[in-house]
Amino acid sequence: MTITLALSKGRIFDETLPLLAAAGIEVLEDPEKSRKLILPTNRPDVQVVLVRATDVPTYVEYGGADLGVTGKDTLIEHGGGGLYQPLDLNIARCRVSVAVRHDFDYAHAVRQGARLKAATKYTSIARDFFAAKGVHVDLIKLYGSMELAPLTGLADTIVDLVSTGNTLKANRLVEVERIMDISARLVVNQAALKLKREPIRRIIDAFASAIPKD
Ligand code: AMP
Repeated sequence: MTITLALSKGRIFDETLPLLAAAGIEVLEDPEKSRKLILPTNRPDVQVVLVRATDVPTYVEYGGADLGVTGKDTLIEHGGGGLYQPLDLNIARCRVSVAVRHDFDYAHAVRQGARLKAATKYTSIARDFFAAKGVHVDLIKLYGSMELAPLTGLADTIVDLVSTGNTLKANRLVEVERIMDISARLVVNQAALKLKREPIRRIIDAFASAIPKD
């Protein structure tokens, strides 16, 4: 009975490694060097599949993977339906924020009831946030480099992930609202949880014991 774990390259992969180590699982190839999409581990019954961050919930929901690690941002946009979410792993932490050009008067625009143009990958989060504030917003869906949108006049604001704030600063953008704190979650396929109960439980318990403290 093979256990398949879906991860995305980069922060999620790197920060999941210590949790895997706590479960006695060591990934045998470096995804930055290998072109393989299925990575073997030291355990013959455990493999890691590399998928795009936004595809992790889909893989796990439909059983392409038994488990996955994915950001709360991605889960909210996906809807999270059908997924068991046993753990907040407290890794890959960042926040979803609203940012504008340094010379854009956001407070004034909001006070005047102006119609804002907001560029984002996070259309659900942005729609709910501006609706709750009673701000009229036209959402422009982008898939990357959100920071460029206010600089080119495509949008007044962006809704994006901020970690250190360095990317905003480098592009002379200013964070004007923090929408929510983000961290990565462990998600589990519901059927796999029943069919592969013991090995999956052991992984969940090992991950739980290794969650980094604040
Ligand atoms: P920073 O310059 O540290 O504020 O990082 C901001 C850039 O990194 C933005 O382009 C974000 O989309 C991306 N980013 C920050 N944190 C994360 C995360 N936890 N997961 C994925 N992308 C992130």
